[in-house]
Amino acid sequence: MIAKTFCARMDHGGCGLLVHIQEGKIVKIDGDPECPLNRGAICAKGRAQIERLYHPDRLRYPCRRIGARGEGRWQRISWAEALTTIAEKIREKIDQGEERSIVFAQGTPKGLELYLLLRLANVLKIPHLITPGPICHMPRETAALYTCGFFPVPDFDYPPNLVLVWGSNLYQTNEEGIMGAQLRRVRDKGAKLIVIDPRRTPLAAQADLWLRIKPGTDLALALGFLKIIIEEDLVDREFVEEWTIGFQELKENLKNYSLAEISKITWIPEKEIKEAARLYGLTKPACIQWGNALEHTVNSVQSARALVILAALTGNLDRPGGNVHRPGPPVLRPGELVLSSKFREKREKLLAPGMRLAAQMGFTPSQLIIKAILDEKPYPIKVMYVQGGNPLLSYARAQETYQALKKLEFLAVAEIFLTPTAQLADIVLPAATNFEFDDLGHYGLPHGFILARPKLVEPLEECWPDSMIINELAKRLGQENFFWPNLRACLDDILKPAGLNYEELKKIGFYKGEWAYRKYEEKGFPTPSGKVEIYSAKFAEWGYDPLPTYREPKSALPDSKYPLILTSAKDAHYFHSAYRNIPSLRRLSPEPKVFIHPQTAQELGIHEGEWVVIETRQGTIRQKAAFDEHLHPQVVVGAYGWWFPERQDLEFSGWKEANINILTDNNPPYEPTIGSTNLRAIPCRVYKEN
Ligand code: SF4
Repeated sequence: MIAKTFCARMDHGGCGLLVHIQEGKIVKIDGDPECPLNRGAICAKGRAQIERLYHPDRLRYPCRRIGARGEGRWQRISWAEALTTIAEKIREKIDQGEERSIVFAQGTPKGLELYLLLRLANVLKIPHLITPGPICHMPRETAALYTCGFFPVPDFDYPPNLVLVWGSNLYQTNEEGIMGAQLRRVRDKGAKLIVIDPRRTPLAAQADLWLRIKPGTDLALALGFLKIIIEEDLVDREFVEEWTIGFQELKENLKNYSLAEISKITWIPEKEIKEAARLYGLTKPACIQWGNALEHTVNSVQSARALVILAALTGNLDRPGGNVHRPGPPVLRPGELVLSSKFREKREKLLAPGMRLAAQMGFTPSQLIIKAILDEKPYPIKVMYVQGGNPLLSYARAQETYQALKKLEFLAVAEIFLTPTAQLADIVLPAATNFEFDDLGHYGLPHGFILARPKLVEPLEECWPDSMIINELAKRLGQENFFWPNLRACLDDILKPAGLNYEELKKIGFYKGEWAYRKYEEKGFPTPSGKVEIYSAKFAEWGYDPLPTYREPKSALPDSKYPLILTSAKDAHYFHSAYRNIPSLRRLSPEPKVFIHPQTAQELGIHEGEWVVIETRQGTIRQKAAFDEHLHPQVVVGAYGWWFPERQDLEFSGWKEANINILTDNNPPYEPTIGSTNLRAIPCRVYKEN
């Protein structure tokens, strides 16, 4: 039998798959040529899902630790005992009036599980939910909401005549469900390409213009683009006059920046900035594909605002081939699913209500929780539930995260494998993979459709879907009125407003919203003013910069001890810290590599292929030196997300050996609205290992 579904959990997912099943087991995975997103193309990770599914190291049963935390001694327990233990811990705190001492943490969302976790937090009035949001997607989403009222996605379908790829390595990592395959098709049709990236990625290598930006200075460059677009009158005047507010204020504000100064900040020659801005401004239609790198700075939200403004000024917003609004189908909205009205009741209990965009999205930046656990200020946080995430590898300043996790009174982790974080838990729950349960893909994402990801095989042993774990935990916490008898009932409830049930969605595969261009001409933009808000009165009211304003954090400036600039990159063959234990993927990328310019390496006496130490003000790690002659000589690019599942001899499978977050800082300054930390421009030095 060959079943159709969509990829998930190996990255943000979305590629259509043909899954070959024999006698209840998956034996082969191909790309689905009929899927409009990938049209048959899939990557090594997509195929490797079989190895993950039947991996001998998968967690199979709930376990509780025996012995000291992290000692590695486990005892198998029943689901009933595991859920009751977790529920009792949560209930104990709630009964003491200490909801705020509980935190739920989500790794990168894979399907519905984030929404159910947030729903549970909301009905229990637990104020703290950690998601990767402040450094992934949410700065762009909230910036866009407060600028044009929707998340503008590139319209690769029309298609555009130019794509400006900004901080996105789409060919290797996709981007929240936007597929490299889509961009390839646009390129095949002749679209020009500008790439902004410190590295000469495969995409940059084939670009018409590649701007080798200094890591972390994207906002300065975006201001340079805006300056040229305005000064050279490349604006769509009609659109700007009728559909924007704050153009004059922006024009005035940009006078504070000279192109020479922007060139100095970004390390990009003035001539190249001009050439790229002109090419973008003159080519119609043009779209921007923005990436996660924009969000790894303390200017994250304003960087994203600047790019929305750039699309607006050039008349590329909500127009064919530009950046468009893709409303989803009329299913239950995420805000309704998570019962966001209940969230308002707990807002005053948040750790940082002043970070208004984070508060609005319902999450707390991870570094604030970690510090509160350690310092017990403004109050202690003692109980943590982690779902599909590996904080020890993914939160900035891993040393602090480690101390915080160890200090917790109780930690439960739901995972597929025993990650370094799971090794520190009191209870470990075995999570099912995407082929083992019914789920929705792209729900809540801005792509304008949802995907059916049906159960194809029985879950391994006692593995449960994360969503089912939350649903059952909720019942043990007396919240059955807000949850469902089973997951299928939940899915049917979500689809009900569209007049569908899950069986029907499975048959059609995916369901699109109603897409149209230039909707603003009928209804205005979905902002308070009905226009694109270049000047944000709301930001001004809240005390934030109402116009994009570049601020360079002092901690990002190199000095004589740390003269190099460290940034990091995700590996095409992994997803964040996951899957180093998948043999076919590990063969493709066996070791963590730090890329360094050969001239810099020569000056430091470093040879290619040898292990080197990377040191920042925060700590040291070791990675293997690889040369990249296209890098700026002052930039080094470390590998992100590394631990060594095979190294049982190292503490927690080598969580600190090569972990880039040993080198990052989680101290202020933070991005003021949402709490992003600086992850892209970290002064460092590199030297040979003794
Ligand atoms: S590109 Fe992403 S969605 Fe597509 S097959 Fe690979 S991992 Fe899956």
